[in-house]
Amino acid sequence: MDENCVFCKIVSGQIPSTKIYEDENSLAFLDINPATNGHSLVISKKHYATLLDIPGAELEELILAVQKTGAATMKATKADGFNVLQNNGAVSGQVIHHLHFHIVPRFKNDSLNLSLGGKKAGQAELAEWQKRIKKHLK
Ligand code: 5GP
Ligand code: ZN
Repeated sequence: MDENCVFCKIVSGQIPSTKIYEDENSLAFLDINPATNGHSLVISKKHYATLLDIPGAELEELILAVQKTGAATMKATKADGFNVLQNNGAVSGQVIHHLHFHIVPRFKNDSLNLSLGGKKAGQAELAEWQKRIKKHLK
């Protein structure tokens, strides 16, 4: 537990939340500023700052909680689809530095803009990044 962390305080009950799913290691609750109706956050009960910090076995359990919550949310909201979003680091938009997955139900014409707005890369550029990233995956 991190004493200054809002989500740790939600886990311990010091801050109230609207819980929708809970198991031994995971908790899902509704976002207080929903991007669309039914927007929730799925967190690990233990404090890990980012996706890179959680041990693999715990991440497996957490992603199953994301899948379960996503399936239930689709049924409850009758959404046409949903986004799973997960920010790492302030520059990516992470505000709460306790690992969490957003589940954002999507509806035709909901006008939410999550476009990444990329531009086309040439083969040489892609090959260079392939080389640089693969080097760290050995
Ligand atoms: P981030 O930008 O870190 O990926 O997302 C943090 C999310 O947590 C935001 O969507 C924000 O609305 C939500 N949030 C922040 N504080 C609280 C809180 O006290 N309770 C709940 N339920 N959600 C929170
Ligand atoms: Zn925390």
